[in-house]
Amino acid sequence: MTPLRVLSVASEVFPLVKTGGLADVTGALPGALEAEGVAVRTLIPGYPAVTGAIEGARPVHHVSDLFGGPARLLEARAAGLDLLVLDAPHLYARPGSPYHEPEGRDWPDNALRFAALAMVAADIGGGAIDGYLPDVVHAHDWQAGLAPAYLHYRGGVRPGEHPGGARPGTVMTVHNLAFPGKLPAGLLARLGLPPSAYAIDGVEFYGTISLLKAGLQFADRITTVSPTYAVEILTVEAGMGFDGLLRARADVLSGILNGIDTNIWNPATDTRIAARYDRATLANRAVNKAALQARMGLAADPDAPLFAVVSRLTWQKGMDLLLACLPALLALGGQLALLGSGDAPIEAGFQAQAAAAPARVGCIIGYDEALAHGMQAGADALLVPSRFEPCGLTQMCALRYGAVPVVARVGGLADTVIDANPAAMAAGVATGVQFAPATAEMLEMALRRTVALYREPAAWRALQANGMASDVSWRGPARSYAALYRDLVGART
Ligand code: ADP
Repeated sequence: MTPLRVLSVASEVFPLVKTGGLADVTGALPGALEAEGVAVRTLIPGYPAVTGAIEGARPVHHVSDLFGGPARLLEARAAGLDLLVLDAPHLYARPGSPYHEPEGRDWPDNALRFAALAMVAADIGGGAIDGYLPDVVHAHDWQAGLAPAYLHYRGGVRPGEHPGGARPGTVMTVHNLAFPGKLPAGLLARLGLPPSAYAIDGVEFYGTISLLKAGLQFADRITTVSPTYAVEILTVEAGMGFDGLLRARADVLSGILNGIDTNIWNPATDTRIAARYDRATLANRAVNKAALQARMGLAADPDAPLFAVVSRLTWQKGMDLLLACLPALLALGGQLALLGSGDAPIEAGFQAQAAAAPARVGCIIGYDEALAHGMQAGADALLVPSRFEPCGLTQMCALRYGAVPVVARVGGLADTVIDANPAAMAAGVATGVQFAPATAEMLEMALRRTVALYREPAAWRALQANGMASDVSWRGPARSYAALYRDLVGART
């Protein structure tokens, strides 16, 4: 069987450039899809971190003026991925984050930077590269959202490239509906869109242009990253203004759960943790717990339930709820180890708590991939009190590492953790603690339940063992994406 060709279009890909879970997904899915007979090429902007990492790059396409400067497309391999790197120094050769100036403000020309990515995706989908035409263009989040729109408005492909001249199928994946990618309406012509696109059934979004809406409106299929989130986003409460459109397109919307890279996240082989272990050698976790307490400056107390957070520190993630519950957590005899960065008031709140009780609350503001592993390996429980969560990856890492996830029952958290209620405990399937709704009161109750379970060693070990046996790999999700692509291509031929 000839492999299906998919062009994945994204603004981040692990390990080259990552600000969140999106990069984990775009970095791991291509490898998992290979086993399903799907050949993925990833189109990514040529940030310095990307152009500096590629070997043997070969130019395969040139654009003389891509929103204010020349650009070329480089075919390259890096980190096990087949890449098409959009080398456009006037747009991407900038320091720091893909999205922000070093001082933290969004780059003022972000609209054009990512419209350029989508436009070149549409070029490729239209046959711009000799000998390569994707069957499917798969756009991830708002940064790639214009790709299905450009393909829609352009229609066919370069003559002779495809029998019938039909454009490739398009898939839009929403990793987080909270980022609409909004631009002033006046940019419509500059983006190369026809006047008719500025309409309710086009890219118009409450008086602006939304790049995410462009993808949701024009992609042949829409996916999001968990089945529960796919249902939640049809409601006014979770739909972020897109719920009407999503309800109208519900027949092409589905949820496919993310996985994690189980080679990178494997406690039996992980060189970033103090002691390696598996389900049979769970006792080794004590070494990692002691190492984590030392790293965080916490009291070396093997019996204190050690809670961890590895997260963006934002309202979405419910971090203000956790701050409100910290006195209760400490009254229960718990410790908190927190790694993350985000909103300044939340960062300051945790820093103040750590200063007030340094033996019980440890807080590192920043991003540290290696420490994230040490936290999953050393913590007793991982807290994810999100108000909404499209999928969430940290709770899956926690399951794999025997850190019991304590999660709000929303989105992908609801789909990946089985609550330790009496029925699930009796059936031997429970993997964590869920609570709802996401309020400080319910989080506090969940903390009480968690500590009670922790004080029952047999029950706690069962939770850990069940979690470690959960399949959090990309195998199942990759099969679902492959089936979606084939269904889409079949429907178009
Ligand atoms: P998000 O909404 O931020 O994408 P996810 O749970 O889906 O949340 O993915 C977050 C990813 O980023 C996970 O791989 C998590 O381990 C990682 N992560 C988040 N914050 C940090 C941090 N401060 N240091 C290291 N890794 C982090």
